[in-house]
Amino acid sequence: MKYAIIIGLICALLAMYLGSYVSWTFYFLAFGVFIVPAAVYGFTMFMRFMEDFRKIAESREKSRNCVKCGRSIPWDANLCPYCGHDFT
Ligand SMILES: [Zn+2]
Repeated sequence: MKYAIIIGLICALLAMYLGSYVSWTFYFLAFGVFIVPAAVYGFTMFMRFMEDFRKIAESREKSRNCVKCGRSIPWDANLCPYCGHDFT
């Protein structure tokens, strides 16, 4: 009778342990269902942001500001199209 209580207690603890393990696995899987698309979406947005940033950096490299009027002009322009400042 005494052993039956101990075995029952062990079984109960084992069931609790296994139950929590199963539920944690379930939570992990359920969380993974959301975290994987979120990670993919985040990565895609990051790549788009980097692409935009690269394009902006590239366009900035190809232009400069006029020393006289301060407007953005093509990098290889010898004459400012806005104020006519001569760079040669
Ligand atoms: Zn100018």
